[in-house]
Amino acid sequence: RRKQEISTETLFQKIKAGDKTALSQGITLIESHTAQAQQKAAELIEKCLPFANRSFRIGITGVPGVGKSTFIEAFGGHLADAGKKVAVLAVDPTSTVSRGSILGDKTRMETLVNHENAFIRPSPSGDSLGGVAKKTRETIILCEAAGFDTLLIETVGVGQSETTVHSMTDFFLLLKLAGAGDELQGIKRGIMEMADAIVINKADGENLKPARQARSEFRRALHLYPAKDSQWQPKVLLCSALKKTGIEEVWDLMKEFEELVKENGYFNSNRQAQNKFWMLQTIDEHLRNRFYRHPEIKKLLPEQLKALEKNETTPFEAAAHLLEKYRSL
Ligand code: GDP
Repeated sequence: RRKQEISTETLFQKIKAGDKTALSQGITLIESHTAQAQQKAAELIEKCLPFANRSFRIGITGVPGVGKSTFIEAFGGHLADAGKKVAVLAVDPTSTVSRGSILGDKTRMETLVNHENAFIRPSPSGDSLGGVAKKTRETIILCEAAGFDTLLIETVGVGQSETTVHSMTDFFLLLKLAGAGDELQGIKRGIMEMADAIVINKADGENLKPARQARSEFRRALHLYPAKDSQWQPKVLLCSALKKTGIEEVWDLMKEFEELVKENGYFNSNRQAQNKFWMLQTIDEHLRNRFYRHPEIKKLLPEQLKALEKNETTPFEAAAHLLEKYRSL
């Protein structure tokens, strides 16, 4: 019980000192729904903000089974061993019921979980991707204030979750498998375009040859995309998360990227653009919720949809009618 009475100032001091228990408590506040917790969370975020923004944020995606957790364990472990402070977060909009279906399973990333330089937090639950994303954005601030300098943000390719993670990270990594035959066709539109690196995992044993072939195919495919604003030419690498080969190369690549974009100004301009995007996104979501959750609109919307079905109105007339009603409420 006493834990809950801890003041936000004390919590902030502990977080700033790198206390992982305090960090977890802070994140729990962010994820809570009560007004009191939300108020405390807002205070805490404000205190942490001046100490945030100092990390390199890496988004990692790939279909289930591609080896994301094995890769994060190997890659994160490598960085943590080298003295980096690594925080692993997840964005999983499907984790509403089974809280944190990715990263939730504690048997995954066993070594990393216990590494003194690592911190792992499963995906927040939420009724919308927007809600989950907001909590993750705020959690990033707390992790950075706690001194975590390398953030790994995992997502599965559900709905818009990849785009969401892309819009809160500096570097976007796509994990792929070779040997599935039509590798290039299986990729959602736009994902290739977002990727700063494609890493073909499980490049070990009999898989090595097909992995090399896939690497050539992806390289050719990437060349067909227009140049990025970052001026970075996306790269294709091989790795085995299981055998821990190719891990160092992935990190070298990211360092190369970081150097380029800090030099050419993209790193900062991209973060500025992301901040603006998230502000506008938050307003959008708020306005939309207020509209759709209004009891009067809840009543009138089905009527207008019915009228539309019967051709008694046009989409625009119906929309104008509802918006007019809402304005007068
Ligand atoms: P996730 O669903 O993307 O998180 O994938 P997991 O990390 O759970 O891995 C799925 C399966 O692939 C597990 O059985 C892993 O042991 C295996 N796996 C992951 N990485 C490698 C690798 O580099 N080589 C091989 N051979 N197997 C791997």
